[in-house]
Amino acid sequence: MRVKLLSLGCRLNEAESEDWADRFQAQGCQVVGDEDPADLIVINTCAVTQQAVRKSRQILRRSHRVNPGARLIVSGCLAALEAESLAGEGVDLVVGNQDKDRLVEIALDALAIPSMPELAITNDASPLFTRGRQRAFVKVQDGCRYRCTFCITTQARGEERSRPVSEAVAAITRLHRAGLQEVVLTGVHLGGYGSDTDGDLAALVSRILAETEIPRLRLGSLEPWDLPDDFWGLFADARLMPHLHLPLQSGSDHVLRRMARRCKTDEFARLVARGRALIPDLNITTDIIVGFPGEDVDDWRRTLAFAEVMRFGHIHVFSYSPRAGTLAATLPDQVDAGTKRQRCQDLQALAVRMKGEILRAQIGKRARVLCEGPDDGERRESRFGYTPNYLPVHVVADAPGVTGNRLIDVTLTGLAASGDAMVGQPVRRPE
Ligand code: SF4
Repeated sequence: MRVKLLSLGCRLNEAESEDWADRFQAQGCQVVGDEDPADLIVINTCAVTQQAVRKSRQILRRSHRVNPGARLIVSGCLAALEAESLAGEGVDLVVGNQDKDRLVEIALDALAIPSMPELAITNDASPLFTRGRQRAFVKVQDGCRYRCTFCITTQARGEERSRPVSEAVAAITRLHRAGLQEVVLTGVHLGGYGSDTDGDLAALVSRILAETEIPRLRLGSLEPWDLPDDFWGLFADARLMPHLHLPLQSGSDHVLRRMARRCKTDEFARLVARGRALIPDLNITTDIIVGFPGEDVDDWRRTLAFAEVMRFGHIHVFSYSPRAGTLAATLPDQVDAGTKRQRCQDLQALAVRMKGEILRAQIGKRARVLCEGPDDGERRESRFGYTPNYLPVHVVADAPGVTGNRLIDVTLTGLAASGDAMVGQPVRRPE
C-alpha cells in the first residue's frame, strides 16, 4: 500500500504527519513523495484562516482528481470544524483532531487495509531524509484552555492534553537513532504541557535531556505565559537551543485586551529581559497580527515602538483576516485593507532592519551550525543551516565534511548578499 501524507499549516500538523509516516511504514506500507502515485492519501488540513480553508479544499479536490483510484482520508482542523461539508468530496474517511493519535489504526480498520508489519522497511534512516529534512517536529501537547478572540485553533483542537513523557523520550530516541540531530517540541499551547497531568514543561524537557542523546533540542512556538518557575534553569544544558518564539500579537495593551491575550506588554518585556539576562545570545522571535479590529493610529505607534525595543530576531507579520466562528470576526471597527497593507510594510521594514543589526552584531563570533539538506557529500558552494540561537547561515562548503545533516563549527564572517543571513567559514581543525 503506497501512502501519501500531505500536511498543511502548523508544525503540529507536520509532527503528526511525520508520526503517521512512521506508523504506516511499521505496518508494511510504503510512504511515497508528494508527487508520486498513491493508493491512500491522508490530508492533514488547516483552518486557521479562510485562506487556509480554501487551500485545504483545493488540495483535497486536486488529490482526488489526480488520484481517482486512491482512498482519501481527511484530518486536521478543517475536518474538526466542518466534517459534514467534506462528505461528497470523494472523502472515504474523516478523522477528527481528538482521534489523530490513533489515525493509522482507525484507517487500517475502517478501510480494511491489511496490516503487514513483516513487510515493514527496516532501513534505519528516517523517512524525513527522503523529504530533505533533518529536523523533526515532535508533538508533546495538544489543545488549549484559552480563548483568544481571533483564534479558531482552540475550538478545533479542544481541551489540553499532554503526551506521556516516556512516549516523547522514546520518539526522540528513535529519531536520533534514525540519524536526526535536532528535534523541535511542538504543541498548541506548549506552556500548558502537564496541565492535565501533574507534570510541566520543565519536567518534560529535563527528562528528555537526561534520557536521550539528541544533540539539539528546540522549543516550538510558546505562548508568553504559563512558563514553569524553573524554566530558565533548563538552558544551563547547552543542548537546549537558546531561541524562543514568543507570539506577542500586538504591542498595544488596548489591542491585547480586545484579543483576550493573557500577557500584556510590561509582562512580555519583563519575561524577555529576564531571559536575556540569564541566557547569552538568546534570540527572541515573534508573531504580530496587523490591523486587528479597533487598532487605531495610537495602537499602531505603540506596536512599532514596542517591537523596536524588544529587538526581535525575526517577526512573522500577519495581516488580520476575519475568521468565521471567532469573536474577533464580529467586532466593530474592522481596519480597512489599505491601512493593513501600509502597516504590514512598516512592520516588515522594521523587522528587516532589526534582523540586519542583530546579524551584524554576530560577525566574528563562532557558532555550531546544523547544515540542512541530505547528507550526500555533494560538492556545493555553500550549505544552509542554523546556529543554536536560530540565526540563518550559509556555510562556505570549501572544507571536507561540509554536507547536509552535519554539525559544523564556523566563524561568522559577514552577512550574505541577501542581508538576511550570515556567512560562516568552517573552523579549520589543526591536522
Ligand atoms: S493561547 Fe494560542 S492556541 Fe490558545 S486560544 Fe490563544 S492563540 Fe489560540
